[in-house]
Amino acid sequence: MRCTQEQVKAERLTEFRHIAMRVQACRAESVGEVKSALDGKPAVHYTLDRADMERFRAGMYLVAQTHVAAGARAILPSIFGMPYKLLPNEIDKLKDAPLDPRAYVSILSHLFGGCTMGKDPARSVCDGRGRVHGYQGLHIADASAIPSNLGVNPQHTIMAMARLWAQQMLD
Ligand SMILES: Cc1cc2nc3c(=O)[nH]c(=O)nc-3n(C[C@H](O)[C@H](O)[C@H](O)COP(=O)(O)OP(=O)(O)OC[C@H]3O[C@@H](n4cnc5c(N)ncnc54)[C@H](O)[C@@H]3O)c2cc1C
Repeated sequence: MRCTQEQVKAERLTEFRHIAMRVQACRAESVGEVKSALDGKPAVHYTLDRADMERFRAGMYLVAQTHVAAGARAILPSIFGMPYKLLPNEIDKLKDAPLDPRAYVSILSHLFGGCTMGKDPARSVCDGRGRVHGYQGLHIADASAIPSNLGVNPQHTIMAMARLWAQQMLD
């Protein structure tokens, strides 16, 4: 008897108590853009390039290895184009997983550089103290001033930068 897709999904859900999820954080080097959307609002356009995808795929393999080392009986890669389940002796297949970013479940939560700081007004929005080039009294003190990907969680850096620049405003 053939199972319907709903039956397959229901069957898979019964396994959720035995699932452990780990994520990998990958320091991406790809660059995106902030453009005007059709409704005039700003929209972020960003996709991972091949070099980042190779790092990302290598990270997925490492995560699978940690699961197997911890005794996992199977790996659920959640990568479009890969089998739903890999047995521990099959995880090498992840080395050939697709390099299309759309095949993966991923999030991007650290955006930088929308109003990047720098000396040259032609290549930056504000100077090294957050003062917007050419506008008296207008300051930027948030993640957008950071010129590149920090590679680690940025909140402390952003808060320290905002505090320092606010103090400097009073000088
Ligand atoms: C899911 C998720 C998890 C994260 N986890 C971590 C973590 O664990 N550790 C870490 O360090 N970082 C984490 N970050 C990143 C961190 O939250 C951001 O990098 C940081 O909050 C950016 O600070 P910001 O001041 O630049 O911008 P925001 O915190 O986004 O502040 C911008 C503010 O401007 C306001 N605003 C927008 N438009 C206007 C307008 N037109 N007029 C007036 N106000 C406006 C917004 O309402 C908002 O309050 C995470 C981010 C996400 C999305």
